[in-house]
Amino acid sequence: MASIFPPCPKCDSDDISKNGVIKGKQRYKCRTCLYNFTVEKMGKSIDSYYVVKALQLYIEGVSYREIERLLGISHVSVMNWVKKYQIKVPKQNLATPTYRILNHKELGEFVSRPQNVEGKGMLITELGDKFMVIQWNRITFN
Ligand SMILES: [Zn+2]
Repeated sequence: MASIFPPCPKCDSDDISKNGVIKGKQRYKCRTCLYNFTVEKMGKSIDSYYVVKALQLYIEGVSYREIERLLGISHVSVMNWVKKYQIKVPKQNLATPTYRILNHKELGEFVSRPQNVEGKGMLITELGDKFMVIQWNRITFN
């Protein structure tokens, strides 16, 4: 899974953590070489990681407003991406997805219970430092 943070400009490592905000700019720290760096355009350009994530959720039947709430991305942006990339959702959506946001420990506990996963279409996607589980109750396909 790609890092949601920019790579280190010094050693190109993906192992990056947030390290405070300096003069309105997000500061990052490289865990590999310990180099601190800031990124100019935070908030202006949205990481392509989130574009893909938003479109994934859209295809899974999550509404624009819910995507906005979950990812913190304006539903107008998401609508524009759907148009730009010509995303079409197949009409045969017979079930409304349900989803939950879990941390890693909760995710492990959740999937360890058979009743939580049996008979359910399931998709787990990384969401910042948490995980999102999208499920559909078993439906009949003709
Ligand atoms: Zn580095």
